Amino acid sequence: MAIDLTHQLTESSEALTPDEARRIAPYFSNTDRSVVALVNLPEVVKGALFSRYSRSAKGVRRLFLDEFFGKSELAIDRPLEGTDSARILAQTSEARAKAEAFYTRVLSDYGDDSVGELGGAHLAFQEISQIAAKTIEDHRIGLAFLEKSSRYVPFDDKVNGRYRYYRDRTLIGSTYRDRVIQHLDGLFDAYAEMLPRMIAHLQETHPIDEIEFENAITGKIQKFANITDPEFSASASFAYKSAVRAQACDLLRCFLPMATLTNVGVWGNGRALEYLLLHLYADPFEENRILGHAGAHELDAVIGPFIKRADDEKGKRLQEYLQGRRATQRELVKQYLGEVRRAQAASPEPKVTLTRFDADAVDAVVSAILYGATDTPKRDVNARVRELSAAQKTEILRAYVGLRGNRRHKPGRAFEHARYEFDLLINIGEFRDLQRHRLVTPDRQQYTTAHGYDTNDQINAVPEIRDAYNARMECADKLYRELADKYPNQAQYLVPFGYRVRYNIELNLRELYHWCELRTVEQGHPDYRLTSQQMYYAVREAQPELVEGMTFVNLNPNPPMSRLRAEMRSARKKKSGETKS
Ligand SMILES: Cc1cc2nc3c(=O)[nH]c(=O)nc-3n(C[C@H](O)[C@H](O)[C@H](O)COP(=O)(O)OP(=O)(O)OC[C@H]3O[C@@H](n4cnc5c(N)ncnc54)[C@H](O)[C@@H]3O)c2cc1C
Repeated sequence: MAIDLTHQLTESSEALTPDEARRIAPYFSNTDRSVVALVNLPEVVKGALFSRYSRSAKGVRRLFLDEFFGKSELAIDRPLEGTDSARILAQTSEARAKAEAFYTRVLSDYGDDSVGELGGAHLAFQEISQIAAKTIEDHRIGLAFLEKSSRYVPFDDKVNGRYRYYRDRTLIGSTYRDRVIQHLDGLFDAYAEMLPRMIAHLQETHPIDEIEFENAITGKIQKFANITDPEFSASASFAYKSAVRAQACDLLRCFLPMATLTNVGVWGNGRALEYLLLHLYADPFEENRILGHAGAHELDAVIGPFIKRADDEKGKRLQEYLQGRRATQRELVKQYLGEVRRAQAASPEPKVTLTRFDADAVDAVVSAILYGATDTPKRDVNARVRELSAAQKTEILRAYVGLRGNRRHKPGRAFEHARYEFDLLINIGEFRDLQRHRLVTPDRQQYTTAHGYDTNDQINAVPEIRDAYNARMECADKLYRELADKYPNQAQYLVPFGYRVRYNIELNLRELYHWCELRTVEQGHPDYRLTSQQMYYAVREAQPELVEGMTFVNLNPNPPMSRLRAEMRSARKKKSGETKS
């Protein structure tokens, strides 16, 4: 029988009088248990409180009472009656200014850099280009992102008569202005015009009557043509329309240029946000530098002291260092890679190349599996593992992976001891998706038309769409090549998602499981499904025993109407939500 652990919450040994408990109650999720959350406090106070916490024998509530609550400099000196007043207090500039001064002092007295991780903020970057979105999302530790979907949100609308794309000041101010606008408008016009055509094509090739739907209530599966229940018929028809539209958006996003505007929500801890801002300040793209300043301005009002060092004297020196490193890389390429670049351009390249892996990965993983459960030095475990037969090693791997119920049952950290480097040559659309994996070491080359563009079967199946696509891609190439020498950064805004970009990643085996199993799900985009399947095959070829446990990788070819089942599931979820509420 399952034991209800909520009855076993441990009491805190922090002795508070009833009056003390009443006073601090608005700031803690409880006043008497050993696990407690902080509430209704400015981020800076939370950060300062935790940083003191690390240097004190007191519990967090006692510390708060003794060192924070009564401090006039913090303006947290009276009991609050309700969450509204608490929120008001947290937001008053007086309280914040005092809290910030206090935080700065605590940081200098007790702090190291990790204090900056003890508070955080949500920041929305809206109407930014894909170039900017990818720069922001290139940061990994301490940040979480959510971006507007190019699958569920069509990009064909206009604001004040203009399509939603970034107008770079340099390009718009140059003699290329008209051609740039004509090119970008042309891409959006084509996308808008082809969307209904693609929807019609999908409806024609996958007519609703032929499709089987699962009844959300009864679980019965029926072809649409045979459905008699009006409610089931309505939900099936809704799911079908959503799936067709999502699929059409997926297929046509290759028209969209890197200038396309999007929205990115960021949650981050102070240290990570500070680092993000510092990088934006030092970025070669003007848009990114502007966003760095705008982000700092907004965050200043929320977690000011956490991000101050992004642009102070030390921050500026670090910005220069980053800029210098980039310049050095360019020089080094000129000096050492000139001929290699020319040679490579001549040979055709695959989408996925496994460029490097550890030859002794099996032994490394097997040793790591055994190490934690022994008291033997690693050197001795390694030596013993080397003596085992291949069959014994496979047996150990199998036992460790065990029976995985679903893809969330991930193999343990022992699998982080094997690493793989892939060089991907993928279209920018799929790069945009795959770039979101943070547990990899990523490296990207610039967006260019030099590697050619991808197309897909559905685009090729409709001559009108195919011709429009090829024509637009050729225009993009022509204009990009004309501009690239003079405006190497700005010209990248003109490159459509259909063009290929080179993306290099190094990741460990554990992340490879996550990546391949997540990115091959049937509702995933057909392009990155293929890439992820190829990544799996490449490792299977090299070290089959290490991916034997990757049982949730989906190796089926791209299913037609791949969104349909997912849409049905979400229709069902909505339905059961409605029934419950
Ligand atoms: C079908 C599909 C549709 C999608 N649609 C959208 C969309 O519309 N908009 C959008 O923005 N994104 C979308 N995504 C991207 C998705 O939100 C993830 O960003 C992406 O899949 C990377 O996955 P991950 O975060 O699990 O992986 P990784 O970043 O590779 O991380 C691996 C694992 O490490 C852990 N982890 C990593 N970082 C953190 C952290 N900061 N905090 C806690 N745990 C962490 C998690 O367990 C995570 O699963 C979509 C993805 C798929 C597959």
